[in-house]
Amino acid sequence: MKLSSLACDIAESPTFALNEEARLLRERGEAVINLGIGEPKNKTPIAAVLSSAARLTSGEVKYTPPDGLPSMKKAVIRYTEENYNRLASPENVIITNGAKQSLFNILYSVLNPQDEVIIIAPYWVSYTEMIKMCMGIPVIVTPEDGTFTPNFAEIERAVTSSTRAIIVNSPNNPSGAIYPPELIEKIVNMCEKKGIFMICDDIYHKLVFDRNTAVPAYTFTKKDIESSHVVVVNGVAKLYGMTGFRIGWVVGPRDLVKVMTNVLAQTTSCVSPVAQSAAEGALNGLQSVVEALRLQIQNNRDVVLQEMKTFNGARLIAPAGTFYALPDLRAFNNNSVEVSRFLLKKAMVVTVPGKEFGMEGHIRISFAGSVKDVTEGIARIKWALDPTSPNEIYIGDKKMIRDWM
Ligand code: PMP
Repeated sequence: MKLSSLACDIAESPTFALNEEARLLRERGEAVINLGIGEPKNKTPIAAVLSSAARLTSGEVKYTPPDGLPSMKKAVIRYTEENYNRLASPENVIITNGAKQSLFNILYSVLNPQDEVIIIAPYWVSYTEMIKMCMGIPVIVTPEDGTFTPNFAEIERAVTSSTRAIIVNSPNNPSGAIYPPELIEKIVNMCEKKGIFMICDDIYHKLVFDRNTAVPAYTFTKKDIESSHVVVVNGVAKLYGMTGFRIGWVVGPRDLVKVMTNVLAQTTSCVSPVAQSAAEGALNGLQSVVEALRLQIQNNRDVVLQEMKTFNGARLIAPAGTFYALPDLRAFNNNSVEVSRFLLKKAMVVTVPGKEFGMEGHIRISFAGSVKDVTEGIARIKWALDPTSPNEIYIGDKKMIRDWM
């Protein structure tokens, strides 16, 4: 069978593949703990449920304008004013099928073949594949060993005449790092000066711990949305735990939004109004649901830090936001794919190899789930890797003895 070599080059999503593996193991009765997928366990906020139910009962479930329902765009405009201190007009906003489609459509609308996009390691797995799908070239900037914050000089050095965009994801998946405001400011200045799009993937922007804040890029430019090269991507998946509704949005210059609207109209027509109404409900409803989720996740993060203290050999930079930790396990094995496989086989814990995020020797642990899963999952990882940890453990109702070291 002859297939497109461009499409065949696109890697399988490792998180979804691992999720499926975990599901199959669980179906076989294995006591699997999934620390792989980044998905909060909360129920859909009630305001979102009511608002989408109202849409359903109205029977008005038809195509919407391709750039989104006017009422949903209004909710995004208000959100942008409140959280970014920027006035957007409806022409600056497009609603998409998840933040994933936002990112893909931006890249598709910005890139010509062989154009370059700078991404910062560790990076979210989909960036490289999306850039390749748009025939662009991902240019990866890696921070110095032992840190997850890139050096601005390295970013500047990566810029060439073919650079069209840089993707900045802070708070960062998979490291949980929040980039310092000075770095964001320098990137904004560089992008405005050189006419490079700064794509801010802000999907975790309120999931921050302690006194940390993720300062929006707009803070550092006097330009309005229309003339700025800052483009913001956001959505309801992480902050409201509404992953299955598939709602994201973009705020950016209208010329970009116009092209993106054509791309969306020709590929998926529009986003389901049922899902748009749900997101509208979430944005217009009580925002205490976001704070409740943040507190629960922060508590889980504290549990991770506590448990990791007794993990001899592992090095962890405390996550400042998101629901991911990226411990360095090079003391045990440099090959993160082998480590993740080993942990699944011996300890029945799903993790994601750091290699997938451009950070070999590390594994990503999601702490979005229950405290029980996080505590037990890390105990199992310690048991499997750390020879100084107790050599007996219960996995489900089976007593296991470590007999490989
Ligand atoms: N960006 C980042 C950094 C993410 O982690 C994710 C989800 N894992 C997304 C974008 C996509 O979000 P959505 O589910 O809204 O498509």
